[in-house]
Amino acid sequence: MTAPSDLTPGRPLVFRNATVLTMDDAHNVEDGADVLVSGDRISAVGKSLEVPEGTAEIDGTGGIVMPGMIDTHRHMWQTAMRGYGADWTLTQYFVWNYLQWGKSFRPQDIYAGNLLSAIEAIDAGVTTTVDWSHNLQTIDHAEAAADALQEVPGRFVLAYGNIQAAPWEWSAAPEFRDFVARRFGGGNDMLGFQMAFDVPGNPEFPEKAAFEVARDLNVPVTTHAGVWKVTTDEGIRLMHEHGFMTPSSVYVHAASLSEDSYHRIAATGGSASLSTESEQSAGQGYPPTWKLREHGIGVSLSMDTSVWWSADLFSAMRATLSADRAREHLEAHARDETVTHHKLRAEQVVDWATRGGARALGLDSLTGSLEPGKKADVVLIKNDASPVMFPLLNPYGHVVFQAQRGDVHTVVVNGRVVKYDHRLVGTDLAKARQVVGETVEYLKGELGPQAWHEGMHPEIPETRVLDNPYTYTYTQE
Ligand SMILES: [Zn+2]
Repeated sequence: MTAPSDLTPGRPLVFRNATVLTMDDAHNVEDGADVLVSGDRISAVGKSLEVPEGTAEIDGTGGIVMPGMIDTHRHMWQTAMRGYGADWTLTQYFVWNYLQWGKSFRPQDIYAGNLLSAIEAIDAGVTTTVDWSHNLQTIDHAEAAADALQEVPGRFVLAYGNIQAAPWEWSAAPEFRDFVARRFGGGNDMLGFQMAFDVPGNPEFPEKAAFEVARDLNVPVTTHAGVWKVTTDEGIRLMHEHGFMTPSSVYVHAASLSEDSYHRIAATGGSASLSTESEQSAGQGYPPTWKLREHGIGVSLSMDTSVWWSADLFSAMRATLSADRAREHLEAHARDETVTHHKLRAEQVVDWATRGGARALGLDSLTGSLEPGKKADVVLIKNDASPVMFPLLNPYGHVVFQAQRGDVHTVVVNGRVVKYDHRLVGTDLAKARQVVGETVEYLKGELGPQAWHEGMHPEIPETRVLDNPYTYTYTQE
């Protein structure tokens, strides 16, 4: 077996004898195949590859090699409060984020959340993550966010936002432009940039100025769209009529929109980022794959926030496939019909978790599939100690419904091994543990024990259990 010390950066690396999901245009699947990584690129995919002398080997027998997964929307700073809001609704989240705790986050707290989230991403085989960073109250906050992302050997996109100020204000600040030029001027494909803000539908369209900044900087805009009663069809209409809907636009959630809005998105070539665990439990609207499929709108997957949900795309794929099928059955039953053949397949959601993300981010020429010449962002799913890894009959189905993040054996990002034999390589988890601990202590102190407790345990509305006509009691004779 290859020792972790053999996996030095720059040394060629080959995965041997795995089931390879290339996710190329033909969705070619190869059994018993190899993937060769040379430098930061994939140099070959095929059976019994000849490799340069000194190539490190990773045995993929019994495992699945697939492209690194891509998350197009994650509020990484919120990972500092992992799981805290598990029982929230969107309303409770907004109170927390906009009115109470969001403001308390200092630059070091943004750093702490981002650091942990970034490490968590690569550990789960998510090799590219968009940090939808909407609490950058000062440039110091933004520097802290970017510092954390650059400290972790994953591919990231900083989507710059600030919910504590209006987008037409923060994007007009000279220090914002200065920050972008300073940290994103070099064409570094390990750290990309987007602007992140929402368009609630004010008829004056004050967001126009922020869109103009994005156009001027030539950066994409990502926006929460179709969030029930929060961002509506009006926002889509205004964006469209002012010419700001482009193929690089990412519409997060894109639920509860009208046919007209979906037509506008489809016509302008933008894509939707689905966070199905989020849409199902927070209330933005029903996860809209069934609508997006009808309109031919591109889909990528995302996890939204670990203040509520998991941050691995196995969960995203599973939830998304299940939600689409649940909707299909429910609608059929309402017509007194039975669904005999599912429309959405496991293969498609694996595509959304890989290629879909690459397309959404304009990175399709670099990542999202295992093809010679592309950057080497590679995941090996293999767990010899698990009863769930065999038999391996339907690899797409296995990825979606059987595998989970604990089965991620090896992760390579940009040709560098960042996880091997289920252990992170070259990442300082102890540091993340320490800084997140400090942030939690600080936030607890700011709010006090009562508010801390109440925030985590929202009141439960009363549920009346119906009188049951079949209830009876035995009587003794
Ligand atoms: Zn979000």
